[in-house]
Amino acid sequence: MSVCKVDTPVVADQEGTPTRGGINDLRMGTVDKNFNCETCKSSFADCSGHFGHIELIKPMYHVGFIEVCRKILRCICFNCSKILAPKDGKFKQALKLKNPQKRQNLMFNICKTIKQCKISNRHEVIIRIFYTLFFKRMIPRLITLLT
Ligand SMILES: [Zn+2]
Ligand SMILES: [Zn+2]
Repeated sequence: MSVCKVDTPVVADQEGTPTRGGINDLRMGTVDKNFNCETCKSSFADCSGHFGHIELIKPMYHVGFIEVCRKILRCICFNCSKILAPKDGKFKQALKLKNPQKRQNLMFNICKTIKQCKISNRHEVIIRIFYTLFFKRMIPRLITLLT
């Protein structure tokens, strides 16, 4: 679909000829009556233009899919990447839906109030208990014993 890659900031050379790889590359068509399109060989009046592309430095979310990506990411645990929804009746009901849009919306509605999956929540509780026992009780005792 793309006829050329736009990779140079130079628009035209000193004689005014559009630079290859620049934003006015003749492969994408022209608005100048002195040049013809390099892709379809037509004049500016007959050529409707052709797509070029720019390669970005970093991956980007497609604007058209950003809401879908947000909804999917909202259904996944930040800590362990498992689905946030508990495997109860609502979850099974959502899995039975054939329409992907409705299934995603129902799953999103189930998950939108949950912040952590049960497993990560359990791990956090264990870490908190360990932290409380070790750092708040054992360390002060050790310090008093050593001094
Ligand atoms: Zn053309
Ligand atoms: Zn988790």
